[in-house]
Amino acid sequence: MNIESLLQFDREHLWHPYTSMTRPLKTYAVESAKGALIKLADGRKLVDGMSSWWAAAYGYNNPRLNAAAKAQLEKMSHVMFGGLTHEGAVELGRELLKIAPAGLDKIFYCDSGSVSVEVAMKMALQYWHAKGKSKKRSFATIRGGYHGDTWHAMSVCDPVTGMHNIFSGALSIQYFADRPRTRFGESFDEADFDSLKGIIEKNADVLAALILEPVVQGAGGMWFYSPEFLKQAAALCREKGVLLIADEIATGFMRTGKMFACEWAGVSPDIMCIGKAITGGYMSFAATLASSEVALGISGGIPSEFMHGPTFMANPLACAVAREAVKMACEPGTAANVSRIENHLRRVLPKALSYGGVADVRTLGAIGVIETKKPVDMQTVQQAFVDRGVWVRPFGRLVYAMPPYIIEDAQLEKLTSAMLCVAKNL
Ligand SMILES: *Cc1c(COP(=O)(O)O)cnc(C)c1O
Repeated sequence: MNIESLLQFDREHLWHPYTSMTRPLKTYAVESAKGALIKLADGRKLVDGMSSWWAAAYGYNNPRLNAAAKAQLEKMSHVMFGGLTHEGAVELGRELLKIAPAGLDKIFYCDSGSVSVEVAMKMALQYWHAKGKSKKRSFATIRGGYHGDTWHAMSVCDPVTGMHNIFSGALSIQYFADRPRTRFGESFDEADFDSLKGIIEKNADVLAALILEPVVQGAGGMWFYSPEFLKQAAALCREKGVLLIADEIATGFMRTGKMFACEWAGVSPDIMCIGKAITGGYMSFAATLASSEVALGISGGIPSEFMHGPTFMANPLACAVAREAVKMACEPGTAANVSRIENHLRRVLPKALSYGGVADVRTLGAIGVIETKKPVDMQTVQQAFVDRGVWVRPFGRLVYAMPPYIIEDAQLEKLTSAMLCVAKNL
């Protein structure tokens, strides 16, 4: 491949995530990837610290996931889900129900995380419509959240840092509570709950649901908060008749050290969104799980159908890969890898606290975050990582890693040394 002409076409014609067409940030051409290594077109190999945004949890080119995809390809890569079903959808469903929080037993497959959030929000609205409570059409959430880039998902992202504030006048107004300040692992400051409590108590008659990322807020600020907050939120929602939607798209499948982050609080939501690592990062796929109460509630209304049905719903290729990936999430080796990574991050990253430019260090499960005092220059910092043979993409004041669970010890060491080196110079 001619790298120069490839990069030139890319620069001139292809949009990248959150990138300008006139002043695009530098992009690197990738030739292939295997395990925790990304091989650039110029031959350099980078240790992956991002799992391609939480998704490639079991590494690239994974033999088991490859085999699942190949076997399915020989059967069919897709058939419509309207009026048809297939083994992959059913077997994946069985795997998901084994691990889903208690009470969630109805599954809606969809194309991406953002769509699963749209579906969850529609479920909540349609549920209350069916119950004759059509005033319940708004959503509450906490600041600092991220729920995706589509229209209603966007309306519950943090209104300031949520990357969507230019659209604010056009979006539905939602209710934003302060995000909990008590960190994960600290004893809970009851005052942290006041803001959300006030919102729910005052507006229960118009609130369809509370939507939040359980325990770990991802793209909205990489913040790990006390599970006690989630516990209290779930209890109050139940008491006041507000549904709870847990967005586990980033946190699901062991990333925080539990299968789902809700488990830290012993909470079962009414609706749960999962995505990203569900296919081990192989393709875009997601699901929205609902309790029987929600699903049967919707079906008790007029219309009794749930009004959503994407073209690629339950795509067989994605289901086949996801079925294998979900099995892998459940294996003891995965839990062992997550705690191995967690121990390493906990031991090594706090060294950065002594650096002048560093404000905070936090780790949970296979996630390590160095928060800087000033926003980092993404292009410069990313180049510094590439020069050290590592792939880390910082944003705002956050230099963070969530490597594939299968990362080897030496690779992990290389990744965290690079994070420390780079953080020292910020
Ligand atoms: C990534 C993410 C989404 C959106 O998922 P896409 O697949 O990018 O649409 C939604 N919620 C959370 C918590 C996420 O991390």
